[in-house]
Amino acid sequence: MQRFQHYIDGRFEDGDEAFASLDPATGRPWALMPAASVADVDRAVCAAHRAFLGRDWAGLTASARGRLLLRLADLVQAQAPQLAALETRDTGKIIRETSAQIAYVAEYYRYYAGLADKIEGAHLPIDKPDMEVWLRREPVGVVAAIVPWNSQLFLSAVKIGPALAAGCTVVVKASEDAPAPLLAFARLVHEAGFPAGVVNILTGGPDAGRALTTHRRVAHIAFTGGPETARHIVRASAENLAKTSLELGGKSPFIVFDDADLDSAANAQVAGIFAATGQSCVAGSRLLVQRGVKEALLARLQAKARAAAIGPPGAMATEVGPLCTARQRDRIAAVVADSVQAGARLVTGGQVPAGEGFYYPPTILDCSDAPDAPCLTTELFGPVLSVVTFDTEEQALQIANGTEYGLASGVFTQSLTRAHRMIRGIRAGIVWVNTYRAVSPIAPFGGHGLSGHGREGGMAAALDYTTVKTVWLRTSDDPIPDPFVMR
Ligand code: NAD
Repeated sequence: MQRFQHYIDGRFEDGDEAFASLDPATGRPWALMPAASVADVDRAVCAAHRAFLGRDWAGLTASARGRLLLRLADLVQAQAPQLAALETRDTGKIIRETSAQIAYVAEYYRYYAGLADKIEGAHLPIDKPDMEVWLRREPVGVVAAIVPWNSQLFLSAVKIGPALAAGCTVVVKASEDAPAPLLAFARLVHEAGFPAGVVNILTGGPDAGRALTTHRRVAHIAFTGGPETARHIVRASAENLAKTSLELGGKSPFIVFDDADLDSAANAQVAGIFAATGQSCVAGSRLLVQRGVKEALLARLQAKARAAAIGPPGAMATEVGPLCTARQRDRIAAVVADSVQAGARLVTGGQVPAGEGFYYPPTILDCSDAPDAPCLTTELFGPVLSVVTFDTEEQALQIANGTEYGLASGVFTQSLTRAHRMIRGIRAGIVWVNTYRAVSPIAPFGGHGLSGHGREGGMAAALDYTTVKTVWLRTSDDPIPDPFVMR
């Protein structure tokens, strides 16, 4: 079996314990992963802290940091096919998706490479004649980055890129489910020439996560995962008072009006819920469709769901691969069964196929007469679309916003004025109009409510890893006057 290693303080290590990673297409173990102990986490954070203060990193100019990031971007691009194959093997995500996504991950590192020497301070027009006052933007310190199993290279790039651009150092905890691509990525960090300790990558479960998030030397916790884990993390941050940024789940509305281009909407809806086998935080898992076009749209979706090529994730022809874990598949099957029990009508799918692997078919549930069906409120993180019918724009908005989540949303209409009204009315961090599931390093990404807080992507993400130092410099040569009066 292939064996992966941790990357701590510039060295590759086996770790005292190891666990097997399962191939989701077969359910069989295929590689051994190191399990980080509390001591491993401590060594990684201490190494990151030393590196943060050390001359090899802190002494670099911002442009030099940018050049290192650029080298990393080139290495990711060059190794994209190998990394994609690993991610597909370990997560079960189809090779078409991982190949495209990892090639694009290089663009995130490139974007933050360019941004490193554009993080500027400011000079203040201070209200005292004998003072110069300016603001320095300084890195916050050690960043703990924790990611879930889906898209680990992508979800870590949106943390590592801006954190390094800002001058921070990082300890990344890969998910214990499918950590192979991130552990392999550590080789590229090493090859790019980052000083030892600047980036550390390890894996392990909640114990390693707790050790990392409570560590006194951690200044910022950047987390992507579920809301329940996020609550643990916020509580853990009481130990170090670290700043947190949280990218959590969603129950995103995908709204189709009767004037929409239905072929385009159907394709976008497929991209929004069946691509990546629905394992996407921005999955458009609630279809809100205007009554007049419901049957026409459902017919298109049903045909596409049935025609989707389910198969081995490593085959280029496959469109829907397995879910990452058996736990995930069983949970989805249970919620679908409960929803049918609650009155939802199964339009297609809903049966766990026989045979090996963690497969679940594209599934559509019409919940128009089952407003309490659990699939309407539970984030499933799988290929399950819940459909609701509406008549008016106001109703659509009410249903769309009737969730504690607020990550993404989609609106399909030909009416410019209606599109603008919906953009204003929807409470979500992202609104896609006549498109869905588009991302870019240039565009901020994130949500509110149960979907978390903070933004990844764009300049704001890099600034989030900085703190402001206010500098006061007195320009007068006269002695300081009355020391008992505040100046
Ligand atoms: P999860 O919350 O179970 O795990 C995420 C990470 O947290 C893993 O690395 C896990 O080991 C770690 N962890 C678990 N317990 C911990 C603890 N007590 N302290 C510290 N770390 C701990 O999430 P998951 O099931 O792996 O992933 C699915 C979730 O991630 C979904 O809710 C999905 O929506 C969300 N997600 C969000 C985004 C986004 O950008 N908004 C992107 C992808 C996934």
